[in-house]
Amino acid sequence: MAEDTPTTFKKLSQEEKDKIDTWITTHWSKRNCPLCTHIDWHTANYLVATLTIVEGKIPAVGESPGHYGFALVFCGFCGFSVLLHANILGLSPYGKTPNK
Ligand SMILES: [Zn+2]
Repeated sequence: MAEDTPTTFKKLSQEEKDKIDTWITTHWSKRNCPLCTHIDWHTANYLVATLTIVEGKIPAVGESPGHYGFALVFCGFCGFSVLLHANILGLSPYGKTPNK
């Protein structure tokens, strides 16, 4: 993220990143990148979110009735990225059970 990113975003703790790494190790058997075949996965420092579609359009921030939280895992060689559902990983970015 850019250096001017507000510090109010919740950064993943080392414990949370370790939890993601453990989940990947136990659930992702063939971890070669599908784009470049390297095995060089990294977890971004922040969870990311996707918005749900509202009546066939892409909603503006604040218009969406819900969103999904994900851990962003990316290949350090080519940048290929994977989103892993935070709820499945056992992370709750909202302080309660997130939308599923
Ligand atoms: Zn790659």
